[in-house]
Amino acid sequence: MASPAKKRKLNNDPKLKATPARTLDHFFGKKNSGSSSKIDDSPVVAAENSEVTTSLTDEQLARKLQAEWDRESFGASTVWNGDSKERSDGISPKTPNEAIDETRLLSKQARKDIPDLDGIVATDSVAKPKTKNTLTLQAAGTAEDTLSSSIPFDQSPLTFDPSKYVQELQGHWAADGGNASYALLTRCFVLVNSTQSRIKIVDTLVNMLRVIIEADPDSLLPTVWLATNSISPPYISLELGLGGSAISKALKNVCGLDSKSLKALYDKVGDAGDVAFEAKKKQSFTLRKPKPLTIKGVYQSLVKIANTQGTGSGEVKQRIVDRLLQDARGAEESRYVVRTLCQHLRIGAVKTTMLIALSRAFLLSKPPGADFPLRSPQQLSTLKKEALAEVWAKPEEIVKACFAKRPNYNDLIPVLLEIGVCEELLIRCGLALHIPLRPMLGSITRDLSEMLTKLQGRDFSCEYKYDGQRAQVHCDDQGKVSIFSRHLELMTDKYPDLVDLIPKIRGDGVSSFIMEGEVVAVDQESGELKTFQALSNRARKDVAIGSVKVSVCLFSFDLMYLNGESLLSRPFRERRELLRSLFTEVPNRFTWVKSIDATSQDSETVLEFFKSATDIKCEGIMVKILDNLPNPNLIADVEDTEAADAIEKSARSKTIKKNAPENVPEKKTRRKALLATYEPDKRLDSWLKVKKDYSTTFDTLDLIPVAAWHGQGRKSQWWSPILLAVRNEDSGSLEAVCKCISGFTDTFYKANREFYNPGNENTLGSKPGYVEYEGGNPDVWFEPKEVWEMAFADITLSPVYTAAIGLVSEERGLSLRFPRFLKKREDKGIEEASTNEFLAGLWRKQEEKAPAAGAKGEIEGGEDDDD
Ligand code: ATP
Repeated sequence: MASPAKKRKLNNDPKLKATPARTLDHFFGKKNSGSSSKIDDSPVVAAENSEVTTSLTDEQLARKLQAEWDRESFGASTVWNGDSKERSDGISPKTPNEAIDETRLLSKQARKDIPDLDGIVATDSVAKPKTKNTLTLQAAGTAEDTLSSSIPFDQSPLTFDPSKYVQELQGHWAADGGNASYALLTRCFVLVNSTQSRIKIVDTLVNMLRVIIEADPDSLLPTVWLATNSISPPYISLELGLGGSAISKALKNVCGLDSKSLKALYDKVGDAGDVAFEAKKKQSFTLRKPKPLTIKGVYQSLVKIANTQGTGSGEVKQRIVDRLLQDARGAEESRYVVRTLCQHLRIGAVKTTMLIALSRAFLLSKPPGADFPLRSPQQLSTLKKEALAEVWAKPEEIVKACFAKRPNYNDLIPVLLEIGVCEELLIRCGLALHIPLRPMLGSITRDLSEMLTKLQGRDFSCEYKYDGQRAQVHCDDQGKVSIFSRHLELMTDKYPDLVDLIPKIRGDGVSSFIMEGEVVAVDQESGELKTFQALSNRARKDVAIGSVKVSVCLFSFDLMYLNGESLLSRPFRERRELLRSLFTEVPNRFTWVKSIDATSQDSETVLEFFKSATDIKCEGIMVKILDNLPNPNLIADVEDTEAADAIEKSARSKTIKKNAPENVPEKKTRRKALLATYEPDKRLDSWLKVKKDYSTTFDTLDLIPVAAWHGQGRKSQWWSPILLAVRNEDSGSLEAVCKCISGFTDTFYKANREFYNPGNENTLGSKPGYVEYEGGNPDVWFEPKEVWEMAFADITLSPVYTAAIGLVSEERGLSLRFPRFLKKREDKGIEEASTNEFLAGLWRKQEEKAPAAGAKGEIEGGEDDDD
């Protein structure tokens, strides 16, 4: 059976729509000739027409309104007598009076109240004073940009030729100041949304980006922001701050919906963007000619919304939202404008996809005037798959490396437009003080023995894994300090006590640095570690140093930048040495993570160390490779062939370099030797996590609770079982994976019931379209808000659950047996919950080890054993 997302996608088939815009002439022509048109077929329009014709024909009405406009330009005002009725389909037809008022409001009052709104769009459109007030009855739902909506962005970039469209598009955009239309971006979104294929998504983005690069490079930056569903990097706080009600109001204002029908539509489709799509489809016509949205204009409107604060800001924001929706041509534009406003674009163009697409686009296209070299698509199309993958790989690596060190499109895009993808990009877009780099991440290992096997032949450091908050501390030579979170948010204001500490820890030889560590709540007197919960009780914003109640200690573990120089390519042993020798400890406030150095031969010592970590409330240990090269004295101990291969390879290349022999064929190895460098944004085996939970259970998953049923017996007042889901990054949907009833305390159940109280903002009236679940009807649907860490016995193929469907089996999804709640991941947002891909990966890993377990699950089909 098709999943809701798939059904939705079928409805969105771009080939099924794209009705050309209808002009006033067309509209009257049809009416006058008495022939039926698609517009007339619509019940909404039919009703509208019949109502209007009781007093005047549409043509008479239009002429009359035109006269109104003309008189208005001379300062005269008129009153129209008409009455308003609300119809059963919920679309309230605008009386001419309302329509005039609304148009006036939008054209005059809105401009007056939002003084710089015109400034925002002024660059986007050439003023057309003569036609400004000209009335056109537009079939609002269908007035689309047919040129943009026919571009085959989903072709292979090696056959797609942007030059075919550039001139025509530029001609088309000339009336709007030469700025690329939002219709172009919408076209790309529609195509991306209509496929599940990662390759197609990347291809579509590449082609769209190429058209923008060649036709209107100035719109590239806003394009990238809009396509990645953001307006600024995480460390610059620019929040839209729009409540759901602003969007509902806009839908009512612009599409003429009443509250009841808006709710009915929302309950039916479950996504605000889809509601806008439906509403715009039903909307008969607007009296004000929409001013085509441009990519720049939409982006600038979002920035304006985010920057509008203080008294009256709600109204100003509302008018910008109304205006965006009103100017959206066609249902698809409305859908994506609303999804953008809700910050839930659901096109799967996440950061990595965008970076890949950018690297490829700049290999094939450049802006007019740039002189960096390009690759010829014709020549690339003659290459074999592997050779082509190699061509793509290098630029991809460069762009990703830049963004990992400096995660801001505002920095990346202008340089790309100037020099394309080349080594220089790494220098121009490198590490910088007060811009957070993306942190290096650790891979999970099940237990100590797996860790010891993986790191055979290497010297490594075992460090306590503290349970606090990761902090990246930047300090420049003027003493200015910035502190960033694991997710790159600026949190300097949260830790004034840490800022105060920096001059005390900075040794004499240190002018500037970037350091990383874990901030942990401690008892200031004894230094005893406190739990993560204690730390989360600290206020988050604008903390005054005198008001700090929860004392913290920074346990530092890395140094990435020192005195103007990046240390990322230095081995960990060296970075750690610099950290420990150049900085000064301050008791119970600043120190190094506790650590021991070991090899795989020291299993007893490592076990002792692990136990000591968990004894003092640490989560386990982090294990980090110390040197780039394996220790040659340890090679004999390596039994694992892969590791041996890797070690041998490194040892050989070392000898080869030293003795420089010619023509020595390199033996092919299956695995690259692990490096001890700091690799921003990478999760490598050179950092391994061993947690205490893992020593008793399997891997864990971070799932999102999406629905629940009323409990039975003792639990009748609470929600139990609770339905949990993984994320599908490609489609943006949440795929149900299991119901859970274990691991919850009564206190938890009680709080959970209060949090998800039907009717409040944490619950939904019905199943949202973005949740994939084919099982029985839950009693309540949750607004996805939380991430819960879950343990489980094993993963099974399921006939009921659709999680990861298509990744391990075409017909079956995956589910968990004996899922057990471990804890809420307060530190994770839902966009960081486990993905279907991750789940499929765990299943494959499990199958490699014990295929019988999965088969057993399949035969039993027993993922609902918690019921
Ligand atoms: P990840 O951060 O790896 O994506 P996660 O959010 O699930 O995964 P954990 O599994 O808890 O986090 O482990 C990683 C985190 O542990 C780091 O981000 C850091 O905040 C913390 N940490 C504590 N001690 C150390 C240490 N000695 N070295 C590195 N990280 C440490």
